[in-house]
Amino acid sequence: MSNIYYHDPRQAKEFLLAHGAIRYDKDGLISHLSCSLTPWQADAAFIEESMETTSLWTKVYHAVASDDEFLYRELAQARAADPFIENLFLALGAEAAGKPALYLNRNDCMPALGEDGQAIWPKQVEMNLMASALGEASSVVWRMHRFVGQEQDWRLLDNRAGENLAAAIAYAYQKLAVDGIVLMLVPIGEVSVFDQRITETRLVEEHGLSTRRTSLEELGRRGELRGGDLYFDGVRVAIAYFRSGYAPFHYTNAYAWEARRLIEASSAISVPSARTQLANTKLVQQVLSTEEALREYVGPAEAKRLAKTCVRFSKLDDVIVTAEGSQVTGAELARANYSDWVLKPHREGGGNNFFGEQMLKRLDELEDKDKAAYILMEKIRQQPFESVRLIDGELKFCRCVTELGFFSTAYFEPGTLEPDLLRTEGYLLRTKDEGVDEGLVLGGFSFLDTVLL
Ligand code: ADP
Ligand code: MG
Repeated sequence: MSNIYYHDPRQAKEFLLAHGAIRYDKDGLISHLSCSLTPWQADAAFIEESMETTSLWTKVYHAVASDDEFLYRELAQARAADPFIENLFLALGAEAAGKPALYLNRNDCMPALGEDGQAIWPKQVEMNLMASALGEASSVVWRMHRFVGQEQDWRLLDNRAGENLAAAIAYAYQKLAVDGIVLMLVPIGEVSVFDQRITETRLVEEHGLSTRRTSLEELGRRGELRGGDLYFDGVRVAIAYFRSGYAPFHYTNAYAWEARRLIEASSAISVPSARTQLANTKLVQQVLSTEEALREYVGPAEAKRLAKTCVRFSKLDDVIVTAEGSQVTGAELARANYSDWVLKPHREGGGNNFFGEQMLKRLDELEDKDKAAYILMEKIRQQPFESVRLIDGELKFCRCVTELGFFSTAYFEPGTLEPDLLRTEGYLLRTKDEGVDEGLVLGGFSFLDTVLL
């Protein structure tokens, strides 16, 4: 079908298995993660702008997360409509004073077609400030392309995402200078353990730290505060690293929320803190999508640059004046142009959004009291390209679109808005069939890919 070059699938598969780009399947067996067999030819301006704005966004989100007045004001309605958000506010209320902030972020962008239909520019899908996953697996896929494509004269964009995520945790640990462990909080029944296992191994082997894994519920049961410090099974926790806790179902019972409160109330660094998680809601993303709002947090040139990476947003009952001069609500506009909008609840973790006809159906079902728990986002359009992927050991050709998320790590001393550490390096590139809306790799929608410069 295609004349593009692609790697020998067997070699690729063995590389993925050998280096841990793997997952549990539904029967508890191990399979490789889906990935491309040929890298994605990227646009240089898109890559550069994505990378640089990612660092800027990290600083903006830290400033927003530090701004109590903003959080309480902007999320007042969502809080009333959504118990999950309310619970995060309760955890925030318990926060100990004077804690440093550590970020392991990922800023997902699509190479959108510009208004002239030609130039390509990053448009932000979302910034992830919590449990940004697949850094290690992405690094393995980059190494696979490099290794298996040895004979190709390819200039691949280096992807040391995994290394950098672990290095940021180690940096914060050194700064804290306490004797404690890194506690990784994971959901019960996690399928993507291998990505996390590599991170843990790095922390122990490369950085000399001690780690433990547990669920929120277990921390709630077995954790305690001693003199303001967090202890789990009698061991002091220096850093609580959330790879769980972004979805309501992770809070299996009141103990899980107790764990959240304990972490906030303690001296342990929480990655992320409840305030950061609140700043990461889709509603805040909407508020930050205009130059005017961004100017509260960055200079005018930076605000303009960031706003250019944002698409249009609307609340369901915002009143919008159309090009023809009539007044409609956001929901009416989305209804009339349903393939141009995405309906999003304030949820993370994938699989929560409504596209196309499903969006219409959902809009019909929504009661007034629930509307504040959703936003509308303009759908990002891009130029499809050809790729070939390896899925369950099989080759599959496809016309695809893609989504690039640069990882960005940062550390801020208490009360400061200028980072001691800010590093944007390494990425998750997720490619998928052009007709597919959702983007989850683990949900089988998309596959891991590498940037060719
Ligand atoms: P989640 O927090 O669940 O990860 P996202 O906002 O990242 O939610 O959306 C999930 C996926 O849906 C994205 O990875 C992307 O593939 C697709 N998506 C989301 N918003 C848009 C959009 N505005 N245009 C096109 N695709 C989108
Ligand atoms: Mg996402």
